[in-house]
Amino acid sequence: MFKKILIANRGEIALRIQRACREMGIKAVMVYSEADRDAKYVRLADEAVCIGPASSTHSYLSMPAIISAAEVTDAEAIHPGYGFLSENADFAERVEKSGFTFIGPSPDSIRLMGDKVSAKQAMIRAGVPCVPGSEGALPDDPVVIKRTAKAVGYPVIIKAAGGGGGRGMRVVHTEAALLHAVQTTKAEAGAAFGNPEVYMEKFLQNPRHIEIQILADTHRNAVYLGERDCSMQRRHQKVIEEAPAPGIARRLIEKIGERCAAACKKIGYRGAGTFEFLFENGEFYFIEMNTRVQVEHPVTEWISGIDIVRTQIAVAAGEKLPFTQRQVQLRGHSIECRINAEDAYKFTPSPGRITTWHAPGGPGVRVDSHIYTNYFVPPNYDSMIGKIIVHGDTREQALARMRTALAETVIEGIKTNIPLHRELMVDASFVAGGTNIHYLEEWLSQRER
Ligand code: ADP
Repeated sequence: MFKKILIANRGEIALRIQRACREMGIKAVMVYSEADRDAKYVRLADEAVCIGPASSTHSYLSMPAIISAAEVTDAEAIHPGYGFLSENADFAERVEKSGFTFIGPSPDSIRLMGDKVSAKQAMIRAGVPCVPGSEGALPDDPVVIKRTAKAVGYPVIIKAAGGGGGRGMRVVHTEAALLHAVQTTKAEAGAAFGNPEVYMEKFLQNPRHIEIQILADTHRNAVYLGERDCSMQRRHQKVIEEAPAPGIARRLIEKIGERCAAACKKIGYRGAGTFEFLFENGEFYFIEMNTRVQVEHPVTEWISGIDIVRTQIAVAAGEKLPFTQRQVQLRGHSIECRINAEDAYKFTPSPGRITTWHAPGGPGVRVDSHIYTNYFVPPNYDSMIGKIIVHGDTREQALARMRTALAETVIEGIKTNIPLHRELMVDASFVAGGTNIHYLEEWLSQRER
C-alpha cells in the first residue's frame, strides 16, 4: 500500500479523500491555492504545499505545479478527485511518466471515454445500448447531415464530441434549423473544447437520468454497485441524487449493470467509473462515462456499505477488489442534497464569510463538507460547499430524515440553496418519486416568488 498520497483537489472532496487516507494509515499531502490557505483540511494535512494563486488555471489546473509538489513531498500517488484535472488524459500520462501512480484509469481509457464519439462507438461494440443517432462524427456534407436527421427523426440534439458540464449541445426541431445549428455548435465546440467535432442523437423527450457505479481492478474483475437517480437537475447540473432509483425493476438494473461491468472488462478499465444513461419507456440509453469519483458517490456507499474512495486507492495500488458481484448487497435508500453557496431563488453565487454553521446529525445522517464557522467561501470556484446525505430503511424514512436534517441545518453569513431543498422534500411529485430531467426546471419556472 502507498505510504503517501497527494490530493490534487480542494473543498469537500479533498477532505473526503484525506479522511480515506487517514483511515488507511496513508499520509496525505494537500495542495492549495492562495484562496484556500486557511481551509481546515489544509491545516489538518500531514503536509501542505501552496501551488499558486486563487485562479484555478494557475493552481488546481497547473500540471507542473502539482507534479513538482508531489516530487518535493515524496508522494507515491496522486488522487485527482473530480473536476479540475481528474478527466485529463494528458495529466494522467504526465503523472505516470513522472513516476507516480495516478489514482484512476489509464490515460488510454480516459482518452477513449473523454471523446464522446469514441466512447459511444466503444460502448456499441461492448453491447451497451446507446441513444440512436449518427454513426460517429457528423461529416460536412449538408445532404448527409439532413439525411441523418431524417433517419434519426426530429427532434434531434447536436452534441460536441469534446463537450462536458452540460455545454456544447443544441436541440433541433425542424430541418429548416438544422444546418445552422450544426454550424453554430461546431464553432462553439472548436472555441470551447479545442475540438469542432459534433455528432447527432435523437432528442429524448422526457427521460430520467440513471447512472451505474462500477469499480474495477487490474486483475480483470469489475462489479457494479447498483444505480443512482440524478434526474433532479438545473441547467444540466445535478441538485439531488438518490439510490436506488424509485420504480425501476431490479432485473432491468441488473441487466444494464452486468453490461457495464462486462464493458469495463472488455476495455481494460480500472478504478471507479460511472456509466450515465437516459432512461425512457423502460429502456436505457448510454450518454457518457465519467472516469472518476462522482460528487454523488456517498448515496451508493451508503446502500452498498462499500467505501468507493478507499477502493479506488486500493485498486490503484494493485490490490484485488475485496468483494465479488454476488457479495454486493444493497440495503435501504439514500438521498443526497448538494448545498450550494447561492441565492435559493435567483441562483446567483453567494461567496463570503460563514458566520454560523450548525451541522445536522442523528441516525442516518452524513455531512460531507469542509466548511466551518468563520470559513470564507472564496468566489473563485464552484459554489458547492458540501453535501447532506441521509439513509433510511425505506425511501419514506430517508425523506423524513432529510427533512429533519435540513430543518436542523443553520448556515449564516452567506445565502445557500437549503430553502430550495426544504421545499423539494415536501413536493408531491418528488415525494412520489420518478420525476424526469425537466421536472425541476419546470417546477422552478412555476414557483411563486
Ligand atoms: P455533459 O458531459 O455536458 O454533462 P451529457 O451527454 O452527459 O453531457 O448530457 C448532459 C445532459 O443533457 C443530460 O443529462 C440530459 O439532460 C441532456 N441530454 C443529453 N443528450 C440527450 C438526448 N439525446 N436527449 C435528451 N436529452 C439529452
